[in-house]
Amino acid sequence: MLELEEARRRILSVVSPLGSESVAPLAAAGRVSAAPVVSPIDLPPFDNSAMDGFAVQSADIASAKHDHPVRLQLLGRVAAGEAADQVVTSGSCVRLFTGSPLPRGADAVVMQEDTRVDGTQPEVVWVHDSVRPWENVRLRGEDVKSGALVINSGETLTAGRIGLLAALGLNKVNVGKSPRVALLATGSELVEGGCPLAPGRIYESNRVMLASLVRQAAGVPMVFPLVQDTLAATQNALREALTECDAVVTTGGVSVGEFDFVKKAFEELGGELAFWRVAIKPGKPFAFGCSGEKLLFGLPGNPVSALVAFLLLVRPALRRLQGASDPAMPASFGVLAEPLENRGDRRHFMRVFLDEKGSVRSTGLQASHVLGSLARANGLVDVPPRTTLPEGATVPVIQWES
Ligand code: AMP
Ligand code: MG
Repeated sequence: MLELEEARRRILSVVSPLGSESVAPLAAAGRVSAAPVVSPIDLPPFDNSAMDGFAVQSADIASAKHDHPVRLQLLGRVAAGEAADQVVTSGSCVRLFTGSPLPRGADAVVMQEDTRVDGTQPEVVWVHDSVRPWENVRLRGEDVKSGALVINSGETLTAGRIGLLAALGLNKVNVGKSPRVALLATGSELVEGGCPLAPGRIYESNRVMLASLVRQAAGVPMVFPLVQDTLAATQNALREALTECDAVVTTGGVSVGEFDFVKKAFEELGGELAFWRVAIKPGKPFAFGCSGEKLLFGLPGNPVSALVAFLLLVRPALRRLQGASDPAMPASFGVLAEPLENRGDRRHFMRVFLDEKGSVRSTGLQASHVLGSLARANGLVDVPPRTTLPEGATVPVIQWES
């Protein structure tokens, strides 16, 4: 049985990026940048005002105080979006707004709140506070310089990065292609939602759950029909899924029972199993293999096992297929509000809720078929074998929901 890190290393060692495509920033959220992005312009593109106020020469108003205002001559105004054609000379000023270009000659902006327009002479402005040179001015290029590297290849396009792309005027970005991920549920007991439940049957729940995780990882989920527990049905389903998709994720049928056909069906189709079983709980009977360039992830059928194995072993591969340089889930940290105990001999990824104050609590029953505690959870805590993590301990939480 493999350790988790070894299993992940073996998977990532055979996964290479699918290639890239160009998309609009609007469609780029969560995708992986496939090329370095170099800024084509300075940002801001010109010196401009950070305030509603007046462009001045700072030396003119060095002595300005509340009870000793300085008088300036108002030359005109420049709204945001207009070009500044006035020149500020000693003793004069220009009305500006946030984002207005700074007129030539000015070296600072005094904010409106520190000024008063003369009631009798509208072209006279009284300034009752001084400003330092370049105060309230946003300098050209102070944010990003033209030619600067702003996004590395392999980085995730977060909201902030997408905003930056747009601010630089880039209406296309190169991203790693999204893998098409087949989702197959095996099990003769499984019934589609909305159908009546005959004795012994249960509703199938893994495909939609995994589809939401595939989307979170910027993959494209492809939900396949239910698969009966026979070798022929399993082979037919796998054959079709391997043809149509980049990766196939199955659930169920990957253990040691006589109705578990996933591994056998895959091998009989010519696929090569790389390994089976990982030392984690839940999620132990996990299988990974390759069929040419296509990947097979055989997850256990129990819903919690499927989710945990997906997050720990499939998600990193889906991110790497897109070229992510760091495909691991980022960890959030929290403080245990109660002890977490693992009496077993495998690492137990326990379902927890990390609240907005940073407290971490178990969400209840931890058996691998229990969906109630999964529904209440937003994260997993890795509890080592035969270990109790004490109340008050700071722990990393693998947080897949907020
Ligand atoms: P298996 O891994 O096929 O032995 O299944 C383990 C347990 O998970 C059994 O109780 C199955 O009924 C259940 N199970 C398997 N697949 C699913 C599924 N897609 N949705 C809900 N439960 C499932
Ligand atoms: Mg089964």
